Amino acid sequence: MDQPQKEKKSFKETLNLPQTNFPIRPQSEEEDIALLALWEEEMLYQATSEKNKSFKKFILHDGPPYTNGHLHLGHAFNKILKDIILKYRRMAGFNVPFKPGFDCHGLPIELNVSKANPGISRKDLLQKCRQYAQSWIDIQINESKNLGVCADFDHPYKTMDFAYEADTVLAFGSLVEAGYIERKLKTVPWCASCETVLASAEIEYNEKRDHSMYVLFEVDAESKNKLYDTDKPIFVVIWTTTPWTLPLNQAVVAKPDAEYVLLDINGTYVIVGSSRVDALLKLKKAEKKILKSFNTTEFIQYNVHVINPVMQKVVPIILDQSVDLSGGTAFVHCAPGAGPEDYEIGIKNKLSIFSPIGEDGKFTKNSPIPELIGLSINEANGHILLLAEKNSTLFFLHSIEHSFPHCWRCRSPLIFRATKQWFCDLSHNNLKQRAIETIQKLDMIPESSRNRFLGTIEGRLEWCLSRQRTWGTPIPALICNNCDFPYTNKEFINFVADNVFFQGIEYWESVSLPDIPASSYPCKQCGSRDWRKEQDILDVWFDSGISSYAVLKKDPNLQYPADMYVEGKDQHRGWFQSSLLLSIALSKNNEACMKSILTHGFTVDEYGHKMSKSRGNVISPDEMIKRLSRDGLRLWVSSIDYADDATVSETIFTAVTEVFRKIRNTCRFLLANLYDFDLQKDRVEIKNLPLLDQFALQDLLQTYYEIIFAYEYCNFTRVFHLLADFCSNTLSSLYLDVMKDRLYVEKSDGYKRRSAQTVCYIILDTLTKAIAPIMSFTAEKIRKEYQEKNSVSIHLQDLPTLKEILFECLEKHIHITVMKFSLEHSHTVTDMISYIPDIIQMLQIQKEPLFAKQVRCEILKYIEIEREKGLIKHSLEASIGFFVKPEEMDKEGKRTWSELKSMAGSDENILLFFKEFLIVSDFYYAENMADLKPLSITGVYVLVQRAGGKKCPRCWHLSNNEHDLCERCAEILKNQ
Ligand SMILES: [Zn+2]
Ligand SMILES: [Zn+2]
Ligand SMILES: [Zn+2]
Repeated sequence: MDQPQKEKKSFKETLNLPQTNFPIRPQSEEEDIALLALWEEEMLYQATSEKNKSFKKFILHDGPPYTNGHLHLGHAFNKILKDIILKYRRMAGFNVPFKPGFDCHGLPIELNVSKANPGISRKDLLQKCRQYAQSWIDIQINESKNLGVCADFDHPYKTMDFAYEADTVLAFGSLVEAGYIERKLKTVPWCASCETVLASAEIEYNEKRDHSMYVLFEVDAESKNKLYDTDKPIFVVIWTTTPWTLPLNQAVVAKPDAEYVLLDINGTYVIVGSSRVDALLKLKKAEKKILKSFNTTEFIQYNVHVINPVMQKVVPIILDQSVDLSGGTAFVHCAPGAGPEDYEIGIKNKLSIFSPIGEDGKFTKNSPIPELIGLSINEANGHILLLAEKNSTLFFLHSIEHSFPHCWRCRSPLIFRATKQWFCDLSHNNLKQRAIETIQKLDMIPESSRNRFLGTIEGRLEWCLSRQRTWGTPIPALICNNCDFPYTNKEFINFVADNVFFQGIEYWESVSLPDIPASSYPCKQCGSRDWRKEQDILDVWFDSGISSYAVLKKDPNLQYPADMYVEGKDQHRGWFQSSLLLSIALSKNNEACMKSILTHGFTVDEYGHKMSKSRGNVISPDEMIKRLSRDGLRLWVSSIDYADDATVSETIFTAVTEVFRKIRNTCRFLLANLYDFDLQKDRVEIKNLPLLDQFALQDLLQTYYEIIFAYEYCNFTRVFHLLADFCSNTLSSLYLDVMKDRLYVEKSDGYKRRSAQTVCYIILDTLTKAIAPIMSFTAEKIRKEYQEKNSVSIHLQDLPTLKEILFECLEKHIHITVMKFSLEHSHTVTDMISYIPDIIQMLQIQKEPLFAKQVRCEILKYIEIEREKGLIKHSLEASIGFFVKPEEMDKEGKRTWSELKSMAGSDENILLFFKEFLIVSDFYYAENMADLKPLSITGVYVLVQRAGGKKCPRCWHLSNNEHDLCERCAEILKNQ
């Protein structure tokens, strides 16, 4: 019993079994950390710039993330997506500088710093905010590097850099000069006890008990009889919970194209929405007596006006879709100076934004009702109720409890009041219209994002630039204390910008008025010299929106416009929009700051829910790295169709892990069979490769060019699937499986094994480079295994054009001959990108490999049938009889068959080809048609039988050899 075992063992030693140091299981954490350190030490980013400096530039302009927290998974997704694009471009032959950006000013930082430092002075607040933002920039840079991102982290742009702040001020100056900037009233949420405007993040909604007041507005004499012929007065009924806003009323609003009715309620003629009749009758305990119905178009047609009963002022009835037919009376009393929705209606209908309310929440001297001057809104409520009661226009009164906005600091209910704000006028020079036209011309990826972006800009009413905050770029202006006139102009703004350049925004905080020359000028409006510095700061979207002006135009390494902007879909309202608007307003020739915009979705859980702390479904980039490794995370990003949201779920983790394992194992197999292969010494010329190896290369070419094309158009999901399919189906289940025999069994330095190794090397080299933009760590690890010791980082290597192989494989193809001249001058994949669709098509229609694969596929099915019967255990136990009747074939079939034979070199070789391709022990021409079965290829017949003879203990092929070893193995061993 000992003897055969010993012998078996000794034969095993004569095989060329795979050898590699590349581990079966990656030790990702240690290996990745080591690579990150190596890239840092070798200054990979600088090296890529140096290497590609003579190439055409590709500029992806980074949208600055806000610097007040760790990078979450959405950030990681965005950064990896950008890194994949950039790494591909670098390897494809572009000069790709990439300057990361950071958005530093604004409310969230100011709130955090203020909370941690109660009572802090404005000056100290600025200093602390600056430190706070910088501390998060440092953290975010490290977190980006940890994802494998390759960027100019030593020279990021920050919206709080002094130079950037000065550019922000200058950009504002250019807009002032061009006439885009105006200062006018806007209704804002206001806390009367804190005497400050509130941002939406500072508003809390609590229950509050209020009056519920129904008020009669009499239809004026002129329009009354057009509506209904009567001597009695007709009233429109409005409903409000804020009686104090009635003196601010500018119009009554009805729903367009809706039904309203005239009712007789206990002798009073009133108009309400027909949907509200029953509710109102119930309140008034009255019978239903409808006198007439109207469509609201009649209000406009008859130009109906009504009289505000507390001021005896005539106001129009206007129409707006925002009116709710299911509440109140379906008439809304509109006070644009006292509510955000009313403000919008007011802007759309050019109503006066009237607000006689002071910072303390009390009526000012501008009150249209003198008795109200100096009263708080609570006091005014009582006064107005009394007034309405007195003139019999209080139709009904009770109280309700409803959700109402409150101040997060002092918990007081808020009011809304109109304050002076700075705006960018979107109608000036047709700015909005020009932006819309520009979006039509941009390259939007995916195409569906174009309408979304258009929608956000078409729906935009205005752009308010000012914020009543401290941590931000100041609005450079002086305000007259006497008449509120704002003084600002280009020259003055340049003066401020010059100082901000050296001192930052702190200059504006600390400079005293006498040090500003303009403060000695008299006010143009009233002649006063009593000025104050404007304290408002600019909207942070203005800050980040000018980055194309402050970064792309200023940095000589970059260029304007950018080739691409890449951000999440929320940026259609945010950075994409402010960047586009500002670039058009600031450029002389209407040129947008980007040529293309790639928009991606949000990261969501498996139920499609956005990740949020309250839902408890947040997963951090670190957790993803622990689960999947860095390359797993990057591969996950590539697997996502970014037109949709990016889903995080166990199912997707499993799928990504499986593909990762497949790609890695395929590369490991290739590596393990190249341990004794020296490319220079051992490679076999392409034209001398056996047919099977040529087919393997053709399949490689086709997949590789498809991958390049998918990268070029940012279709990374397709790259992911192409890689997965190629590794599992084309390589593992086909060519590598077939080649094992040659690699393991044949003479180690013989032609047959060296040609298989040549193919393995080309596939490994191509695959490693093709995965490098996505699986940056794995590709680098593989590179160290198969390339020479002193080879440079995989990220400094070019994607191969594979031209030589292409010419060999398509040698006889007429179109490749035509293309050859152009392709010979293509040195990078970018040079040849426009030919790639044609090349892919040429490869797809190669008939010979299709013929061979079909024969293989159908014979394997017959073998499977025999295997199920128990006649054959393994394909090596099969013997295949083959019969071809060219006379039955059509012209194309004949041509393919004869070409295949000529490619194989001889009739004998074609048999050897199929023997290997099918992994069978015998493949022969059958002598007659007895028992043959037809294939679906006309004229081809086969006979599947169990092979005779015995199994060679070394290669497992069956043969009729009398000795132990088969003839082939005996021959090989004799020579070793
Ligand atoms: Zn407050
Ligand atoms: Zn003045
Ligand atoms: Zn053998």
